[in-house]
Amino acid sequence: MTAEIDPAIRRPAAAPGRRPVDHAGIVLTTVDDFVNWTRKNSLWYLLFATACCGIELMQTGGPRADVDRFGMIPRSTPRQADLMIVAGTITYKMAERTKLLYDQMPEPKYVVSMGSCANCGGLFAHSYSVLKGIDQVIPVDLYIPGCPPRPEALTEGLLMLRRKIERERWFGGRAVSAG
Ligand code: SF4
Repeated sequence: MTAEIDPAIRRPAAAPGRRPVDHAGIVLTTVDDFVNWTRKNSLWYLLFATACCGIELMQTGGPRADVDRFGMIPRSTPRQADLMIVAGTITYKMAERTKLLYDQMPEPKYVVSMGSCANCGGLFAHSYSVLKGIDQVIPVDLYIPGCPPRPEALTEGLLMLRRKIERERWFGGRAVSAG
């Protein structure tokens, strides 16, 4: 026996900002939205830390913040990572290696600058050997302030990055920046 479906229920009016959903199991969307949905739910970040902010990064991957729930898992190789979280002080010597790792990551890729040291040199900004911000060598999508930022702050930043990815346009339309 087949249950009758009220046409008014099968095709409800789309809520503002939402695409119509067919209750028979069909979702209407665009290629952009589908690609962005898959990408924002499978962000693999490079296993990379250079100083104490790295401890907070490790904690963010731990059971309390648990960014795995967003599909975010650490990868040991830049070739399978689409996110670099720069966690820690970057010396000029390390900046060169960081740029190399970034170049080895496939497009599209993102960079989160985590903490004062990565943002601007932080406590060590006056040191002869410390880079005054990772954005001097690679493009940065998101800056997280603090020394160190807590796992909650990093989690919030990663959620903002997901929102940015959600709005990107690849197959037509204008790219929209993060809000
Ligand atoms: S911002 Fe603070 S906690 Fe992070 S690496 Fe620099 S000194 Fe360490």
